[in-house]
Amino acid sequence: MDTLIKIAYLVASTFFIFGIKFLASPKTARRGNLFSAIGMLIAIVVTLFDKHVLTFEWIIIGLIVGSVVGTIMAIKVPMTGMPQMVGLLNGFGGGASMLVALSEYYKIHLGTVKGLSFNTELTITIALSILIGAVTFTGSLIAFGKLQGIVTGKVVKYPGQHPLNLFLLILVVAGSIYFALNPELEWLILTVSGISLVLGVLLVLPIGGADMPVAISLLNSYSGLAAASTGFVLQNEQLIVAGALVGASGIILTNIMCKGMNRSLMNVVLGGWESAGSSGPATTTIKGNVKAVEAEELAMLFDAAENIIIVPGYGMAVAQAQHAVRDLFNILEAKGKNVRFAIHPVAGRMPGHMNVLLAEAQVPYDKLYAMEDINDDFPNTDIAFVIGANDVVNPAARHDKNSPIYGMPILNVDYAKTVVINKRSLNVGYAGIENELFFYPNALMYFGDAKEAVNKLVHELKNL
Ligand code: NDP
Repeated sequence: MDTLIKIAYLVASTFFIFGIKFLASPKTARRGNLFSAIGMLIAIVVTLFDKHVLTFEWIIIGLIVGSVVGTIMAIKVPMTGMPQMVGLLNGFGGGASMLVALSEYYKIHLGTVKGLSFNTELTITIALSILIGAVTFTGSLIAFGKLQGIVTGKVVKYPGQHPLNLFLLILVVAGSIYFALNPELEWLILTVSGISLVLGVLLVLPIGGADMPVAISLLNSYSGLAAASTGFVLQNEQLIVAGALVGASGIILTNIMCKGMNRSLMNVVLGGWESAGSSGPATTTIKGNVKAVEAEELAMLFDAAENIIIVPGYGMAVAQAQHAVRDLFNILEAKGKNVRFAIHPVAGRMPGHMNVLLAEAQVPYDKLYAMEDINDDFPNTDIAFVIGANDVVNPAARHDKNSPIYGMPILNVDYAKTVVINKRSLNVGYAGIENELFFYPNALMYFGDAKEAVNKLVHELKNL
């Protein structure tokens, strides 16, 4: 039986690994989700057999409540609310690891299961699960609150903040080590739990709303580490493997996001950008003329163009304009134009945001180009059409040392012969800064909600 269970765990792990591999491309992402879900199902069923469960009532109740809540959340969440939903789920993972580790502790401490005793390896992993799990739990709740607008999205700073956090960190690490060597000290592990919960709040509170998706990705990695550590507590290889996969992929994703914004992780964690949300001023301090264009005139411009690059951004996601954009792509292709999409690694509000939306609208995947693969082609492009993007095309990132996005790689849309920008106003983007691109001599503003504006353009193109 033992060998069978181990083999089943190995099969589940293999499903997880292939699941992640398939998730790497939108073409195979659905299969990746399915593989991971099958892996999880195998893991749950095998664990239930493995643990010789005597009564299933509580497990069934948990299963039903969890499934109902999870299904409702997943159906109701809008695409733009995905980062906070992921954040909340990470938090639950961290909280679960903490509770499981605590219950394992009490099982031995109170002697509810005969014949079990502490050893240092076990107490170290219990302390680690509690510490990381607690920080992940409260940190994720704050991250969720910030993105949902329940907690302030601003960078929160107060005197002595960093020394206080450092002091608490040293306290919980020292407390955990002392506990690992003296597991009979129940008050100590409860104190470590309490301080870790507070630390989670204090560590995430200073991070600005604009950096929150990066923080969520980091917390995702923590939740994996907490789970892996709990795997050691329970001596469950499956949990160790799954936790390690989440921990590693979370940290890789965090790194990709930081690189895309040209920021160090330290800069994000210590509270970098102030602003959150594109709710800035409608007026701008940049001087110059803005040239606006209407759908009819724009349709004629597109009709005369040969090479076109479409640059989607957060506004396309908010407006749910991806299907209208696909219609535009179809009509331009039918007219014999060379149409491609340029995807910035941090366009939108989560990694792969644009790819997912465009794939959903059936835009052929081979027409989507990563920034590094298309950026040199803008000078040979007749029209760069920016739809609801702002920060990722802001030329200040190249030359303005005082700009918060200075050094962030951007899409070189301003090098195109004409750059057309669709958005509703001259408002700022997520980083809260104005965009000089709108005033460039080769720039044309096409004002309006992305879905309506693109639909209008498609209509005019059909009428030509
Ligand atoms: P931005 O947030 O910079 O700009 C989006 C623009 O869309 C706004 O300026 C807004 O202008 C416009 N907009 C909003 N609603 C609509 C609508 N209905 N129709 C048309 N336009 C609309 O988006 P980008 O994609 O350029 O940049 C993403 C930002 O998010 C970057 O700063 C990035 O660093 C950050 N970020 C991204 C992460 C990721 O993983 N993708 C993670 C963390 C941060 P207006 O109000 O005038 O319409």
